[in-house]
Amino acid sequence: MQTKMLIGGQLQQGQGEAFTVFDPATGAEIARIPEASPAQVAAAVSAADAAFPGWARQTPKDRASILLQIADRVDAHAEELARLESRNCGKPFSAALNDEMPAIADVFRFFAGAARCLNGSATAEYLPGHTSMIRRDPVGVVASIAPWNYPLMMAAWKMAPALAAGNCLVLKPSEITPLTSLRFFEIIADLLPAGVINIVFGRGGTVGDPLVNAPQVRMISLTGSIATGQKMLEVASRTLKRTHLELGGKAPVIIFDDADIQSAVEGIRTFGFYNAGQDCTAACRIYVQDKAYDNFVADLTSAVSTIKTGLQDEEGVEMGPLVSQAHQQRVAAFIDRCRDNKQLEITTGGRTGDSGFFYQPTVVANAGQNDEIVRREVFGPVVSVSRFSDTDQVIAFANDSDYGLASSVWTADIGRAMRVSSELQYGCTWVNTHFMLCSEMPHGGMKQSGYGKDMSMYGLEDYTAIRHIMIKH
Ligand code: NAD
Repeated sequence: MQTKMLIGGQLQQGQGEAFTVFDPATGAEIARIPEASPAQVAAAVSAADAAFPGWARQTPKDRASILLQIADRVDAHAEELARLESRNCGKPFSAALNDEMPAIADVFRFFAGAARCLNGSATAEYLPGHTSMIRRDPVGVVASIAPWNYPLMMAAWKMAPALAAGNCLVLKPSEITPLTSLRFFEIIADLLPAGVINIVFGRGGTVGDPLVNAPQVRMISLTGSIATGQKMLEVASRTLKRTHLELGGKAPVIIFDDADIQSAVEGIRTFGFYNAGQDCTAACRIYVQDKAYDNFVADLTSAVSTIKTGLQDEEGVEMGPLVSQAHQQRVAAFIDRCRDNKQLEITTGGRTGDSGFFYQPTVVANAGQNDEIVRREVFGPVVSVSRFSDTDQVIAFANDSDYGLASSVWTADIGRAMRVSSELQYGCTWVNTHFMLCSEMPHGGMKQSGYGKDMSMYGLEDYTAIRHIMIKH
């Protein structure tokens, strides 16, 4: 198994304390991997800094050509990478192979094209006798900090726009799920000049902290929790580094009486429980209008109780375990606290599995707006269902959240869909679906979900600095 880091073009074993990586489906140890030492973190940042002028000077066409080759390597190694991802995260192999790997390859292909299409505003004589123009230049060294839910996909979302724009980077994958990123950097190392991409392994406190604090790092790109986002802003408040933050979510799902209720039930069964609900856009905070409420809860309960959980390779498996024992206990504690609240009904699920870090797909009905299950991110296979009566009330409920990442509206009335979408304070609103992403469209939040955009031209722009050049005639 590849457990070495890539630093300045060389594969190196970490020289720090070893950290254990598990298979969450069984709880068995997969590997013990030494973390990067402080000197190795510093070496990775210096390598990126040294590579930056050369990489930034490459033409967009040449950078695009390399990104296309990276995408081809994803395709060529898709099965191996999917196998590793499903083992390290516990997720079904078929989902890793058929959903994630094509999306990862596509993000590199999209940014290969995007690299050649950056727009500036007009060049003109805004002062007589002077020509002004706008440049979009790379920022420099980016510290890319990734979470554990879609490890390689999150790494790709960070790498592709940063490289397309001409930046160099040091990636720190989550210490819980580093295996695909470590292997991927080995697979693509020969495509890039030494130092353009580097990867360091380790925990946030021991490796992430010195990385983001390194003086040559000009930008911190984090996908993670609000708490870690706040730490990144503390670093930025001292150093004025740029930050790109993609934080948590608690997506409201608004289902009106006139919606196609069967399609909504199927939608929540899929989009509330995909990746065991460990998804920042998961359809987890459901509001159903009065008339449809009782039937919806009954139908959702039966639909969710048929979700097949199991090991990565089991025939027909739809949902794997949670990523770690600590996370399993955290999710279980949420439901235990729901049991203490007599008004809540756990209509299906609500128990840990017999082995590994499994938790049953769970529906909590009759949830009130101020209940913890409605307000806090569980990040597990748990959805809450609440009742509402009118449009203004449900818009207020939906917006009454610290989070602002994703939302959806289910209705047959296009006017209502347009009005509600326009009033929701979320980075994305889907109508009559949920969760669908594409490389051309931005993904990112409002409020405490952060403000960085992944994918799309906006994502590329986030990794550039706008500059004004003025020439006296
Ligand atoms: P986390 O914040 O605990 O960890 C994220 C990453 O930050 C890890 O690599 C971790 O090691 C690192 N980190 C922690 N402390 C650090 C420090 N002091 N300095 C530098 N790095 C540090 O989050 P997680 O548990 O891995 O992921 C789950 C969270 O991520 C959830 O809140 C989820 O909603 C969010 N998430 C958001 C999106 C999105 O697109 N908005 C996508 C996926 C996950």
